[in-house]
Amino acid sequence: MRILLTNDDGIAAPGLAAMWHEASQLGQVTVVAPAEGQSATGHGITVGEAVIASHVQVDGRFQGLSVTGRPADCVKLAVREVLDKPPDLVVSGINAGANVGINILYSGTVAAAVEAAFYRLPAVAVSLDFRDKPDYARAAAIAREVITALLRAKLKPGWLMNVNIPVLERGSPRGIRVARQSTLVMHERFVKAADPRGRTYFWLTGGFTDDGEPDSDLRAINEGYVAVTPLRVDLTCNDALDAMRQWEWPTIEGL
Ligand code: MN
Repeated sequence: MRILLTNDDGIAAPGLAAMWHEASQLGQVTVVAPAEGQSATGHGITVGEAVIASHVQVDGRFQGLSVTGRPADCVKLAVREVLDKPPDLVVSGINAGANVGINILYSGTVAAAVEAAFYRLPAVAVSLDFRDKPDYARAAAIAREVITALLRAKLKPGWLMNVNIPVLERGSPRGIRVARQSTLVMHERFVKAADPRGRTYFWLTGGFTDDGEPDSDLRAINEGYVAVTPLRVDLTCNDALDAMRQWEWPTIEGL
């Protein structure tokens, strides 16, 4: 099996190295990842300028292609240019921090998996919640079990899986829970202060202060479960679609 591995924390991030270690037990891993951290850059891509790709040694253990672009750029470049044929699996992570609820839409980690789903490739995003010290080695071992199960179950083309591992400092996960994406809003605020040059700056802070809906990804990790959430590229609101077809629309022909 040929696996493409990427992330949004940058090619030197410890979560990627840990995932490489476990993924390389499953197949032949090609690493194409951002040169720098790209957290919360969502599904941005680089247009109107070049990306530079350099072969680098990662963690003293393996080679990877370091790309001066976004996570989605990395998947594009890998699929369209680097790999001889499409990979059998795309893994993104392991991210430092959970990617649950509406954070899925900000996440570069998830965006890389979404990009893979555009190509109908099986894709898994893996993120680890933590308090002080993330244990990526344990998280990667857990992720490998989940990925193996997902591959055995055969993902439909266009499906992508968002895997979130709960805080491991409290002990082992209580199990795996298939969960939906929470839509809970975050309690966020801006810390306002003046920089040394007297300019006012605003620093975004905050997060989820609630456990979320009972069947949600957020609730699952907060209760100590690994959350596995199937996502899809199609953002169409089907409820609205059916209703809107019955609406009265203005005549615009000839305008
Ligand atoms: Mn990140």
